Amino acid sequence: MGALPKRRISKTRQAHKRSRYLKVKQAKMVPCPQCGSLRLAHTVCPGCGTYKGREILAAEDDAG
Ligand SMILES: [Zn+2]
Repeated sequence: MGALPKRRISKTRQAHKRSRYLKVKQAKMVPCPQCGSLRLAHTVCPGCGTYKGREILAAEDDAG
């Protein structure tokens, strides 16, 4: 037999446990250096379409 928990974990304790690791999983938002709008860290900005100073997506004002 493997190790088993002696008691069932209460709803409150389970929720606390979950909240601890879910906090880490929460998406990190950073302001874009180009346009200043909040975007997901390490992603292309949805506002201006740039990442690390380089344009990745076509800009909206650019004949597109
Ligand atoms: Zn931007």
